[in-house]
Amino acid sequence: MSKFVVPTQTTRELLRIVRAAQPIPRVAVARRLGVHRRRITVLVKPLLDSGVLREGTPEPNIRRVGRPPIGLSLKSEKHFLIGVNIGVSQTQLGGATVDGKLIFEENFATPANPQTAVAEIKSVIRRYQRQLPDRELVVVGISVAGPTDVEEGRLLYAPHQGWKDVSIAQMLGLKVPVLVENNATAAAIYEAQRRRGRSATRTAGDFVLVRAGTGIGVGLVVDGEVFRGATDTAGEFGHMTIVAGGKSCPCGNLGCWERYASAASAVELYRGETNRSRLDAALRFTDLVARANAGERRAQTTLERAGTHLGIGIGNVICGLGVPHVVLSGELVHGWKFIEAPARAAIARSLCGRLSDWSLTAGETHGSELGGALEVAIEHYLLTIVGSSKVAA
Ligand SMILES: [Zn+2]
Repeated sequence: MSKFVVPTQTTRELLRIVRAAQPIPRVAVARRLGVHRRRITVLVKPLLDSGVLREGTPEPNIRRVGRPPIGLSLKSEKHFLIGVNIGVSQTQLGGATVDGKLIFEENFATPANPQTAVAEIKSVIRRYQRQLPDRELVVVGISVAGPTDVEEGRLLYAPHQGWKDVSIAQMLGLKVPVLVENNATAAAIYEAQRRRGRSATRTAGDFVLVRAGTGIGVGLVVDGEVFRGATDTAGEFGHMTIVAGGKSCPCGNLGCWERYASAASAVELYRGETNRSRLDAALRFTDLVARANAGERRAQTTLERAGTHLGIGIGNVICGLGVPHVVLSGELVHGWKFIEAPARAAIARSLCGRLSDWSLTAGETHGSELGGALEVAIEHYLLTIVGSSKVAA
């Protein structure tokens, strides 16, 4: 029943800012949005009327030390949402309030068969719905290691799992929206929200997120919004060729970037170079980093080589997209101490590295997993809830 005459984009950003900094006074929202306080009154009223937002008593003019901040926050008692990260080996599933507070979380080994995996996810979701009778499930966000059709809730291809064309949303058969997002894009959405939480700038800005775990995926954020391209599949840089006639890749190509710069490829490289490969069969990337930290030169060299290849690819990505700010996310971040310098050197050698004022920072390892999937669900909630009657009452 709202009489919205405001641009959706501004309202979206307002909701994201409130979520990142709640409780936040109106004046602070106005400052961050760069609009007049009177405009905020117009923007906020329908959100308060429809029960999307709540507001504490207005701040008095005189500031007192130690007083808790009062302002706008999201109303979050009635609903919950679910995030699922279907990793190559592990699946993380968690529930959160609409403002992102985690209510529950559990992990299980990802079944090899997609039908079994989706059936297991469905049964876990049903169990939590039963356990939370006072809350209504409103949206499910799922992140997967491959390109997707987000709105259709479909995974197109996951090369490391050999899954092709899996209609996850349809198979789940839930009565709520199910969004299936590429895990690098999900991590980019997570990182964008993290930036809003720690800076007072209007949006999360422009940046490229490189997620390196079993494979490599790239998410692109422009002016705070995720860019998916015409087919939802923008950012499949993991399979660009960086070594002609190089190592074979599960995608069918030779010399793909992720075969040289992912966490899994670093483990493989290390294993290949050690004589104790049989003993190292269960070696994980974090073990490799632990060995490097303990001073093992071979482990250090392996991480440095991965860093160089990471930087070569990032140089290409910066050149191709024209966005010079890069955040590294995913498992590879554990090895940042050894990877950073060679990656920077490789970027600096590239043409665009010399021409542009680039940056490379380490994000979170966890943001690319459950955090990203939950963020996909929360974004959908915030972006579609406005004007809907769902929260009214
Ligand atoms: Zn490939």
